[in-house]
Amino acid sequence: MGLIVQKFGGSSVATTEKLKLVAEHIKKELDLKNQVVVVVSAQGKTTDRLIAEEKEIAKNPSPREHDVLVSTGEQITIAKLSMALEQQGIKAISLTGWQIPIVTNSNYSNSRIRYIHNETITEYLRAGNVVIVAGFQGVDENGNITTLGRGGSDTTAVALSASLGADRCDIYTDVDGVFSADPRIIPEPRKMDAVSYDEMLELSSMGAKVLHNRCVEIGKKYDVPIYVKSTFEKNSIGSLVTKDNNLEDLVINGVTKDDYISRITVVGLENKIGRTYSLFKLLSEHSINVDIIVQSFGEHITKDLAFTVKMGDLPKTLEVLENHKEEINAKEILHCENLSKVSIIGVGIANKPGVAADMFEALYENNINMHMVTTSEIKISVLVDANKADLAVKAIHEKFFK
Ligand code: ASP
Ligand code: MG
Repeated sequence: MGLIVQKFGGSSVATTEKLKLVAEHIKKELDLKNQVVVVVSAQGKTTDRLIAEEKEIAKNPSPREHDVLVSTGEQITIAKLSMALEQQGIKAISLTGWQIPIVTNSNYSNSRIRYIHNETITEYLRAGNVVIVAGFQGVDENGNITTLGRGGSDTTAVALSASLGADRCDIYTDVDGVFSADPRIIPEPRKMDAVSYDEMLELSSMGAKVLHNRCVEIGKKYDVPIYVKSTFEKNSIGSLVTKDNNLEDLVINGVTKDDYISRITVVGLENKIGRTYSLFKLLSEHSINVDIIVQSFGEHITKDLAFTVKMGDLPKTLEVLENHKEEINAKEILHCENLSKVSIIGVGIANKPGVAADMFEALYENNINMHMVTTSEIKISVLVDANKADLAVKAIHEKFFK
């Protein structure tokens, strides 16, 4: 007998009809004599609706009350699913985050799980129940309801899997796994049978929003095999997220695109120890999140520094730099808006020669200029003009997956 954690996202539990389909997936595991813990999201766009309703009342509501409100969607789903299972003669019980409890820190709207009490769940499992857990929510040490950040039900599911020592965590969603590119850009992307945690982390932080980032981090830390599969496709095998992806010998696993990026260049910075540090300390003091950083190695007494921020942070960044102009003591501060970051991701990048050349060739053949390049062990990213970004994804995808 195994223990399986299944997670069903908002689109999988959107209607009563769909809850029946969910019940079938649960039943399949029970028939295999497995114990099942189910984590669910709010139905459909419930969380969005709650936030919209909140805005009608208050622009800046108390963070505590915000979490009390937005956590309610999941409570509706657990009760309904539990009832639906009972109707089919399956013994089930619903539990909210605080009933378990899933204890988090007090950072409302973006709380992190500190620990999970397993006893309540294991006792209900032992008594033959399917345990249905409200995703996305927890409780802090003072008894306040907290939430884990949008999309956080994935994290609830993987954290529960780790804590309970589950054999598998199945994340059911409306797509059939992890794909090599966004199907809105590449009509027939390739489905990956397996991707590594590291690749998945890059993929989910780069706009391929299949999984909540923190759930992958937890999966990696506690070695939880995560299957991403479709609720709606019969016999979906999905994609396995695991330690390594030796199953396939692909050079890259995906091409991603991240929009709304701007690049700032600080020209003629004094080439003295501590200059770069002071600049980024200044940005960090103003909570400006910097992504790519490139520093040129001048032979002269000055150096140039370029970095990217989200378009939304650009006005604030320019203001901060302007206000500290004397301190920074640079010749010029330039910026460039409307850029996109296009990246290739794959554990094969580090050990296969010519990957960068292939990527750049695809861009060259399509007359696409690169405004910046960065690389890591498993990723190469380039900045391109936003209006060329889709073409860049297509060209690169074609190069590697033809
Ligand atoms: N219902 C929450 C959200 O919409 C959590 C989740 O779906 O994972 O963000
Ligand atoms: Mg989600």
